[in-house]
Amino acid sequence: MQQIIRYLFSIILFFSLGSCHAPQKKNTEEITIVTTTNILRSLVEAIAPNEFSVTSIMGAGVDPHGYKASQGDLNKFMQANMIFYQGLYLEGKMISVLEKLNLQIPTREVSGVIPKMLLIKDDDFHEAVDPHVWFSISLWKLCAQYVGDALIEQYPKYTSEIQNNTIAYLAELDELHEWSLAQFSAIPKEQKILISAHDAFSYLGRDYDLSVYSLQGISTLSDFGLKSLKEIGDVIIEKQVPAIFLETSVSDRSILALISGVKRKGYPIKTGGTLYSDSLGPIGSEADNYFSMFRFNVTTISKALKN
Ligand SMILES: [Zn+2]
Repeated sequence: MQQIIRYLFSIILFFSLGSCHAPQKKNTEEITIVTTTNILRSLVEAIAPNEFSVTSIMGAGVDPHGYKASQGDLNKFMQANMIFYQGLYLEGKMISVLEKLNLQIPTREVSGVIPKMLLIKDDDFHEAVDPHVWFSISLWKLCAQYVGDALIEQYPKYTSEIQNNTIAYLAELDELHEWSLAQFSAIPKEQKILISAHDAFSYLGRDYDLSVYSLQGISTLSDFGLKSLKEIGDVIIEKQVPAIFLETSVSDRSILALISGVKRKGYPIKTGGTLYSDSLGPIGSEADNYFSMFRFNVTTISKALKN
């Protein structure tokens, strides 16, 4: 009941923001783009013209699966000239807000451009697909192209700058892919097993031939069960997996339970480090943009699994 009241309250709040109490848009020429996640911010920032201001509502370490927009977020959205969100229900608790925003401000779902046949289906939920598309460089290229096209459609005056930025971004992604292939090929085939808390790395696994296991499903909202702890524990021991990974935007609880279970059985499992799954690191950190985040993850995984 309390949840329903809170939901109704947020709807009322949203409509009041949308009408008489809407914060005034900045009285300058500056174009403001707001994204949901900071991974998406990094993409839009790279493609948008220099003078655009691009910000995200979710900062470092924030988990998008259960994120609900605060009043401050709604204010920020209402001041934007354009909004991008990742989609495929990554921001599951914000979909109705984003759809309503689209009635007033151009609001675009970036992953919507990816053909269904290229998405990984979720075995646990009928018709659900894996939203972590940024870990496939080929899919991220489609997202980049889409962002470029959407910006040009909205701001045709900046067409050549946006096109040039998009071309440069796509070329950098190609380089990143070549580099990643080389890093992963140095891991012995039987050790190419990536185990983490939630299922964010299936696209990475598909592209670079890693077997991916996780304790939770594609959303952090589902809890891990004893069954998956046992099954993955058995995989670790049977395949002699050298290391498993923590994630910056997910609680360590499930991975720590897995480690202690495996150690109790006498296998000396260790953590290979903490990966960035659904969020970049803070500005100024080793993973504060898409490329540095991707390189950090690839380096961390390949170093730990090569041993
Ligand atoms: Zn996730």
